[in-house]
Amino acid sequence: MALSINDACVNCWACLPLCPSDAITANLDGATHFAIDAKKCTECDGDYASPQCASICPIEGAILDAGGEALNPPGSLTGIPPELLEQAMAEIQAR
Ligand code: SF4
Ligand code: SF4
Repeated sequence: MALSINDACVNCWACLPLCPSDAITANLDGATHFAIDAKKCTECDGDYASPQCASICPIEGAILDAGGEALNPPGSLTGIPPELLEQAMAEIQAR
């Protein structure tokens, strides 16, 4: 089992030094965002109680589990319910 990083990643470097398995690579060599090597990622099993990359990642939805579910889903970090954010964005766009 392994986690993955998608293009919501803002390349902040926070996760890379925390990985106990050296599974994260930076957005070098033309890559647009950081990535997790699925062959190396252990989901931190045996090292930490929770995945360290997801614990520090500041971006909701950037790190996914093997089933494609976000470890930090919308609203989980900001505390803003997704439906409230959607409503506010619609109001702003209607101005
Ligand atoms: S879950 Fe753990 S082992 Fe996997 S990439 Fe994140 S920090 Fe590394
Ligand atoms: S902590 Fe999150 S946003 Fe920062 S580099 Fe890692 S995956 Fe990307």
